[in-house]
Amino acid sequence: MQGLWQQALEYVHGKVSQENFDTWLKPVQCDACDADTIELRVPNRFFQDWIEAHYRPLLVEAMTKKTGSAPQFRWIVDTALQLPMKKAVAETPRKAEPAPVSKPLTNLNPKYSFDDFVVGPSNQLAHAASVAVGSAPGTRYNPLFIYGGVGLGKTHLVNAIGHRILADRPSSRILYLSAERFTNEFIWSLQNHRINEFRNRYRERCDVILMDDIQFLAGREQTQEEFFHTFNALYHSDRQIVVTSDVYPQQIPEMEERLVSRFQSGMVADVQSPELDTRIAILLRKAKQERIPLENEVAYHIAQNVKSNVRELEGTLLRLAVKADLLARPISLDLAQESLKSLKPPVKAVSVDDIQRAVCDYFNLRVADLKSHRRHRTVSYPRMLAMYLSRERLGTSYPELGDRFGGKDHTTVMSAVRKIDGLLKKEDQQTQQALDAVERKLGLASTG
Ligand code: ADP
Ligand code: MG
Repeated sequence: MQGLWQQALEYVHGKVSQENFDTWLKPVQCDACDADTIELRVPNRFFQDWIEAHYRPLLVEAMTKKTGSAPQFRWIVDTALQLPMKKAVAETPRKAEPAPVSKPLTNLNPKYSFDDFVVGPSNQLAHAASVAVGSAPGTRYNPLFIYGGVGLGKTHLVNAIGHRILADRPSSRILYLSAERFTNEFIWSLQNHRINEFRNRYRERCDVILMDDIQFLAGREQTQEEFFHTFNALYHSDRQIVVTSDVYPQQIPEMEERLVSRFQSGMVADVQSPELDTRIAILLRKAKQERIPLENEVAYHIAQNVKSNVRELEGTLLRLAVKADLLARPISLDLAQESLKSLKPPVKAVSVDDIQRAVCDYFNLRVADLKSHRRHRTVSYPRMLAMYLSRERLGTSYPELGDRFGGKDHTTVMSAVRKIDGLLKKEDQQTQQALDAVERKLGLASTG
């Protein structure tokens, strides 16, 4: 009855993130599964507990839908599932008998390799450092800290490092994870008295840690402390640490000084928005990968119009391909021009200026006050609200908002956004009312 298990897995797959699915459910082997019992093989007790706590209800829900009854769970801890790690390859189809040997327990994204990464002046340094780390982990560039805005290739590079290490050293134990996942697992381990296993997992049974989006740890003191010790344990035994962030180490708000200085002690490299030539090259590469016929002049046109980041560039190309397909037209310059036009924001879009004016109306201030450096609460509070709204509703970047608010540092904007966010979470009445009023005024209020 493996079919039942596969169906249950598919059901859960639709409800959890890909990262969590790959990490927690993919490595599990099902030995038997019917309406009454489900027997699962896991690499260690930690896995078992984690799945019990987080995915069992979903699994039961799925099975009950199919069979009408909730199964009993039987667990088998099979340490053979852990080792050896193999080179990450696309999944091979399952044989009839569940193989006793392990699947590689890596959760690296197979799509993100160095081969598929286009190098240009905007990312050259980060790429070179990543290749160096991938070829000789734990030596010269330790830790490696990669920072830059969203969609510029950080996650891609970090995964590529993992693949390169595995290619040369197939038994390396590589942990790729987001700082958010680290945090969640840490908290859960504390609450469930499993902190030793947690530490074991990250400090002992790990040769390389690839930690994505470390800015998530901002303000989380206890997790920072834990990560600090994890860092030291790995670092002092020459194991490689790679960290990504959306800003430079010192600019991560509310990050402990000692961690910041650890991050700065190795190699720090940034990724910037790609230049026109790199954008064109990325489009052509992506088109080839996806077998989308793309003329150079069309690539040029898209690259000229979509500048912000690579993810958006890719998205535009894919949408264009879908559109061409639906209309049964070739991907021509005409079609690209049409669809790029329709992607432009609607004419009466709200701008940062609009938000500033609306906030000033509400609080009876002048826009110049918002842009001033006055710190009195009558000014600073509305300023924070306006920053928050601009960030949340328009997605304007922190540095740009700093400029638009009279040349403030972007960390000031970040802490303003965080502050208002905190007030809203505490259900602060004044803040909620002010925001509602300003949003209504701007026609942003969500109805219903
Ligand atoms: P980040 O982690 O910095 O937000 P990602 O690594 O997720 O960004 O990149 C977003 C998308 O853009 C991914 O699909 C990635 O493969 C692609 N991408 C980014 N930079 C490049 C590049 N230089 N060459 C090819 N693809 C890239
Ligand atoms: Mg990322």
